Amino acid sequence: MAQQIADRRDIDFVLFEQIEADKVTEHEKYKDLNKKTFQMVINEARNIGIKEILPIIKEADIVGAQYIDGEVIVPESYRRVFDILVEGEWTAMAVEPEMGGQGMPECITLAAHEYLGGADFSVASYPMMGHGSGTILKKFGSQEQKDLFLKNYYTGKWAGSMLLTEPEAGSDVGALKTSAVKNDDGTYSITGNKIFITNGDHNLTENIIHPVLARVEGAPEGTKGISLFLIPKIWVNKDGSLGDRNDIICTGIEEKMGLHGSATCSMSMGSKGDCRGMLVGEENKGMRAMFEMMNFARLGVGAQGAQAASNAYLYALDYARERVQGKAIEEAMNPDAKSVNIIKHPDVRRMLMWMKSNVEGMRSFCYYIAHLFDQLELADSEEEKLRIDGMVSLLTPVLKSYNSDRGFEVCVQGMQVLGGVGYTREYPMEKLVRDSKIASIYEGTTGIQGMDLLARKIGMQKGQVFINFIGEINKIIAQAKETKDLEPLASRLEEAVNRMAGVAMHMGKTAQSAEFKTAFANSVPFLDVIGDVVMGWMLLWRAVVAEQKLTEGAKKKDVTFYKGQIKSAQYFINSTIPITIGRINAIELNDSSPIDIEEESFGG
Ligand SMILES: Cc1cc2nc3c(=O)[nH]c(=O)nc-3n(C[C@H](O)[C@H](O)[C@H](O)COP(=O)(O)OP(=O)(O)OC[C@H]3O[C@@H](n4cnc5c(N)ncnc54)[C@H](O)[C@@H]3O)c2cc1C
Repeated sequence: MAQQIADRRDIDFVLFEQIEADKVTEHEKYKDLNKKTFQMVINEARNIGIKEILPIIKEADIVGAQYIDGEVIVPESYRRVFDILVEGEWTAMAVEPEMGGQGMPECITLAAHEYLGGADFSVASYPMMGHGSGTILKKFGSQEQKDLFLKNYYTGKWAGSMLLTEPEAGSDVGALKTSAVKNDDGTYSITGNKIFITNGDHNLTENIIHPVLARVEGAPEGTKGISLFLIPKIWVNKDGSLGDRNDIICTGIEEKMGLHGSATCSMSMGSKGDCRGMLVGEENKGMRAMFEMMNFARLGVGAQGAQAASNAYLYALDYARERVQGKAIEEAMNPDAKSVNIIKHPDVRRMLMWMKSNVEGMRSFCYYIAHLFDQLELADSEEEKLRIDGMVSLLTPVLKSYNSDRGFEVCVQGMQVLGGVGYTREYPMEKLVRDSKIASIYEGTTGIQGMDLLARKIGMQKGQVFINFIGEINKIIAQAKETKDLEPLASRLEEAVNRMAGVAMHMGKTAQSAEFKTAFANSVPFLDVIGDVVMGWMLLWRAVVAEQKLTEGAKKKDVTFYKGQIKSAQYFINSTIPITIGRINAIELNDSSPIDIEEESFGG
């Protein structure tokens, strides 16, 4: 049984039938592209994922990244994949071709990434990290810095990274201690230690240009005093030539649960007193710049969760179709009955249905947000930009956390479908479980996303963003209500939307009251409520499209696919949305026991 990555039919459905991503070609910026080009690009990414990446991941997972004599060595097989991704210009697909990209919309980039990072995040992360680093440099860097680094980032010639975390500064980035002192030549001398740095060092590129957060001596405490620097592993002269080895070194890598091929590095800067960095933007304005990169990265992490889930679902589905075990329940008392494939058993069907609906909902959620990014770029009025930007900001913590938590749970469920073999190393499921867990931890834990949602997002633009969000869902509900079969689902989702609006008001008020701690103890369940409703919205939207296609008379091969869409919406809205209402009831009880309990009473 071969591992698959993502259902191509489903990707096409979301892109071209649900969100109609190809409409961007009506705009000047993408006028030279068309649906056929998009499909060719995705096909090519799929070929790379299946033919080049999947075959190497098992061995690379066992070997892992290694730290030998002060050097970080990636699994040998990564070199070929790295070269393919760099040569094919897959590293920064949405960037304009003159800068080394493919000039693709974000939606198409996401579809290609389903097959690249989706096949194995560890290997794909090395050439891709320069894109994120380039994003901040493009917006906040000086012209000189852009000329020196941007194209080399985008083309994968030099790698990027992201150095925030320190032993005493994890979720609380503002507590960082790394310090910077200005030199006479305008550079800064940097001293400090960072931990958990993804791909902080490796042997795949001749240079790594690290974006690093540090505090200029004398700057205010907390996030207000943080500046952003670029620290090249090998110094880059003004003419672009390479200079001396800079005093930034990897002092070790973590042994971790998953993502074995990705080096998670401890980094030391200035241990010999000679680490030089360049300021990006202004002093003390580093957090704003880093947030820009983090927001982008958070959407990538949400997609990572969905991609792991997609792999897990397809593998579990294939397994359930092949594995023969037990009699069909209706034949349980018949001694002559033959054993059946496990997909015939009601409980296995429940697990698969749960996985299918979650994978599809998460996929649509990711593409919806990627499409908002495209629309944001193409919007021609400030009002429209403000509206789209609001939606992206509101939904970023939800996408990041909901998809990473649910993605992991789908992988765990996939393991359950496989039974004992799912727990063994011979099958890919345990690696998916191990690799997917990190998504809920890095780029801001689920707890931090919940706080962001409650403290900063629901009240944005005096609540107008939340109102716009509800308006978008209601448009789909109204369409679904026009169809007899979908009307009951639409009504059930509508009830949840109304309750969600109520619980948002409740949370907003509680967060401003003496009981604010209780509100924050509920911020993750609240985030889950919003995530559930978004999933219901995405799946109902899919069902509306599928119903239309069926009514218009779909081709025979598409009929089963469209019927499957309606079943996903039906299952999710009938099985999860009632739990969502229960979650809302629980939140509104305002139970304060996590706050009131004396610390000693936790026991232990
Ligand atoms: C494999 C891996 C790769 C990573 N890659 C990078 C990287 O490339 N660059 C980088 O800079 N960092 C990276 N990190 C670090 C990662 O971002 C942090 O681990 C993460 O932000 C959490 O910080 P922490 O580990 O210090 O946990 P802590 O901040 O100590 O959190 C522990 C727990 O407390 C909760 N918590 C903490 N503060 C609060 C609060 N104020 N309110 C409510 N709950 C709170 C958290 O939600 C969490 O559940 C990586 C980590 C790993 C494991």
